[in-house]
Amino acid sequence: MIYADHNATSALRPEARAAMLEAMELGANPSSVHGPGRAARKIMERARAQIGAAIGSAGKDLVFTSGGTESNRLAIAGALGQLSRSSDSAPIFLFARIEHSAVLEQLPAADGALEVATNPDGKISLEHLRMRLEEARASGRKPVLTLMLANNETGVIQPVSEAAALVREFDGLVHCDAVQALGKIQVNTKLLGVDYLALSGHKCGGPSGIGALWIRPGAPLMPLHKGGGQERSLRSGTENLSGIAGFGAAAEVSTGNLREFARLAGIRDEMEAKLKPHGVTIFGESSDRLSNTSCFALPGFKSETQVMAMDLAGVAISAGAACSSGKVKASGVLQAMGAGDELASSAIRVSFGWNTGAQDGAVIAEKWVAAASRRPGVR
Ligand code: PLP
Repeated sequence: MIYADHNATSALRPEARAAMLEAMELGANPSSVHGPGRAARKIMERARAQIGAAIGSAGKDLVFTSGGTESNRLAIAGALGQLSRSSDSAPIFLFARIEHSAVLEQLPAADGALEVATNPDGKISLEHLRMRLEEARASGRKPVLTLMLANNETGVIQPVSEAAALVREFDGLVHCDAVQALGKIQVNTKLLGVDYLALSGHKCGGPSGIGALWIRPGAPLMPLHKGGGQERSLRSGTENLSGIAGFGAAAEVSTGNLREFARLAGIRDEMEAKLKPHGVTIFGESSDRLSNTSCFALPGFKSETQVMAMDLAGVAISAGAACSSGKVKASGVLQAMGAGDELASSAIRVSFGWNTGAQDGAVIAEKWVAAASRRPGVR
C-alpha cells in the first residue's frame, strides 16, 4: 500500500515513538513533586522547548491541548471572550472560507464575523482584507483575523506575515492555524507577526490527540474551562505526557529536515506532469504550495469513486473535502476559489510525507490514469 494521506495524519516518526515509550514507561504525573513526578516534568519541559524552538519562540509561551481543533478553539473563543469582557464594544472576527472546520465552527454568531474573499489562486485577498479592516474601524470594533498558514486541501501557503502587518495597522489581533505547516515549511512566530498560533502533533509525525497553542506574551486570552490550573491555568487537566513527548520529538526532527521535505516537490511535480495530459485541474498550481500536497479534479469523476478505486489499487488518498458519515461533501475550500459544484465534488488530495518513496508519485499517476480510463461513461 502506498500511503499518500499525510495531511490527514502523517506516519509516526521513529523518534516520536521512542520518546512516547520512554514517557509511557515512566508513568508519573508532571505536577507531582516526588522524583518520578519531577522526571515526568523534565520530559514535558524538554518537549515544550523542542516545540518552542521549532517555531522560533520560547517554549514557556505554549499551552498543550488535545490537538489542532482545541488549539484553534482556545485561541478564537478565548481571545474573543476576553476582549468582549474587557471592552464596551464586541470585537469583530475576520475569516476566509478556506479555513479548516476546526476554525470555521468556532465563528461567533450573527454580526460577530465578516468574511474576507479568497482569490482563485487559493490565497486570501489582501485588498479585501483592508476593506474589511476599514469597516471594523468605522464600527469602532477591534478586528481579530484568523488565517491559516497552509491549506490542508490544496497546500496553498497564505500571506500570513503581510496580512498580520496590515491587521497591526488597525490595532487588531491575528490567530494563525499552522497545523499543516509545522515540519513542512519554516514556521516562525516572530517573522509571521501573529498573536496566537495553533499546532497539532499528528500532522508532523507525532501522535494524534496532542496539540499546542502558542500565545504571544500579553495577548488577551481567557481559559475555556477551569480545573487543576495546569498550563498556567489556561488549560486545566493532567497533561498527556506521552503525547507531549512524541510531539516534541516529531517537531524537532521534522523542522530539522525541511530541506529533505522539500524533495517531495519533485515527486509531486512528476505525478502532476503525468496527470495533466488527462485533463485534470490542479488547484493552487500557480501559488506557493506545500511541497507534499496536490489537489486535483477531473469533472464527472466523483471524489469518492476515485478514493475507492485508488484504495483498491493499493493507494491511500483522500477526497478533497471532509468526509463525514461516509458522505463526501463538495469542498468549501475549492468553492471559495471559484470551483463549481461539479469540479469541487470531483477533487482528490494526494499528500506525501517523510517516508514517501521516490517512485510513489509516478506509480500513483499510473494507477490513477488506469482508474480514470475505467470510470463510468468512458469506453
Ligand atoms: N487545522 C487544519 C488546517 C487541519 O488540517 C486539521 C486537521 O485536519 C486541524 C486543524 C485539526 O487538527 P486536529 O486533528 O489535531 O484536531
